[in-house]
Amino acid sequence: MKPQRVHIAIQKNGRLAEQSLGLIRAAGFHLTKSASDLAYSVENAPIDLWCVRDDDIPTFVADGVADLGIVGRNVLAERALGANAPIPAEIMPLGFGRCRLAIAAPESLTYAGPGSLSGLRIATTYPNLLARFLAAEGVEAEIVTMRGAVEVAPRLKLAEAICDLVSTGATLEANGLIELQTVLESEAVLVRGTRTLDEASERTVQSVVARFRGVIASQGAKYVMMNAPRAALPEISRILPGAGAPTVTPLAGRDDAVAVHAVCQESVFWETLEALKAAGASSILVLSIEKMM
Ligand code: ATP
Ligand code: ZN
Repeated sequence: MKPQRVHIAIQKNGRLAEQSLGLIRAAGFHLTKSASDLAYSVENAPIDLWCVRDDDIPTFVADGVADLGIVGRNVLAERALGANAPIPAEIMPLGFGRCRLAIAAPESLTYAGPGSLSGLRIATTYPNLLARFLAAEGVEAEIVTMRGAVEVAPRLKLAEAICDLVSTGATLEANGLIELQTVLESEAVLVRGTRTLDEASERTVQSVVARFRGVIASQGAKYVMMNAPRAALPEISRILPGAGAPTVTPLAGRDDAVAVHAVCQESVFWETLEALKAAGASSILVLSIEKMM
């Protein structure tokens, strides 16, 4: 029997495309592009990638056309509120494509909380998420659904406010808009459909998930090594950012000093090294971690 291949749907072009491919490569999967440009196959695992519009990813995964997908939480959440059909479940956040769905308006609008939106027209490509937000706040406003270029709506007198994705805020600023209120925090997430897979495919999916977790966990994490007086261990454990119990090994010919090794989950700044030194540590090394599982 021909082994089943697992399919992962990713964005073809756009803000998530490069980093989705980057994550898959960092997980050790070697990619070959298909002739059509719409797919990649993985050489060293039974996996194919479909490259599609991000808006189609939830449907592809829900229908079982793809087993996994990488999509913005904003797209997933909007779809979940609209459809009666099953929607894929978010398995884990992926740490890129960070943005927020936010309400913004020209400076002339006085904002003292969601109540200030009452009776206004708000333009958005996310009508379901906006409607949920307004209902939760008990605000009645008119939702003007657009397909894109929402930021020009106030200038065209189509709306008094907008609800759109923001990352740096540069687009809002360029259009004379002030960010007022976050509706949803978003980033790229891994999604999975509800279909039961055959045993081999399930193993492949589990391996993708475990490797992605490993890549994400190792990003920003550091391996820290140093020598330290035994008596300074409690203080050093306190200083090490996001480390579990460190590994402590004896130093040859020294009873009073030990070697300390630890994985730090958070950034290790110069200030941290200075604090370690002040606590008595010496020969401090900070190393990048390539893989973690
Ligand atoms: P497609 O052609 O696939 O439909 P698109 O134009 O809908 O693409 P992009 O603009 O590429 O989508 O954005 C993809 C995702 O990137 C968004 O859904 C969102 O999760 C994320 N993102 C991060 N920052 C921003 C931002 N400043 N503006 C829009 N999206 C952002
Ligand atoms: Zn899209």
